[in-house]
Amino acid sequence: ERANIVPLIDKTIKRIQPMYKNNIQFISRSAELYVNIHEQSFTQLLIILLDNANKYSSDIIKLTLIEEKDILKIRVEDKGIGIPEEEQPYIFDRMYRVDKTRNRKTGGTGLGLAIAKRISEQHGGYIMLESTEKIGSIFLVILPRSEV
Ligand code: ATP
Repeated sequence: ERANIVPLIDKTIKRIQPMYKNNIQFISRSAELYVNIHEQSFTQLLIILLDNANKYSSDIIKLTLIEEKDILKIRVEDKGIGIPEEEQPYIFDRMYRVDKTRNRKTGGTGLGLAIAKRISEQHGGYIMLESTEKIGSIFLVILPRSEV
């Protein structure tokens, strides 16, 4: 359904922030941004990306909405451990986890990003990664904007 995702993202951040070690900064130029979404899945997608940013970094997490003519970019940026270039092609596969040793302390199944990819595609969009080891990661979800 067509929904204003700005208050939805706000609400989601308020709900998860108390459980996070890192602060989440939310940046949007507009207070109203309408997208066709399945609200529950969209929220799950946000939480997967934010949880990872919280797990694999120890600094501020930036969530930025970037409006373009026909698309909307949701950018989740962390200044964490990053993902080595040679691992990046596999990161959205089911059960894939980078280097078991570095992940031993931070539990997980390796399903999160596979689900995030599926949800992005179910919304007619896609997900991308830009990351540099030891610098951080940027996950970009690209969604079509809904017509008025
Ligand atoms: P979960 O299914 O509980 O989320 P997970 O974090 O292991 O477990 P994914 O979310 O699919 O699974 O992530 C897969 C792997 O990608 C992770 O194990 C981690 O190595 C790497 N990864 C994901 N997000 C980040 C990030 N923001 N920074 C660094 N590495 C990341």
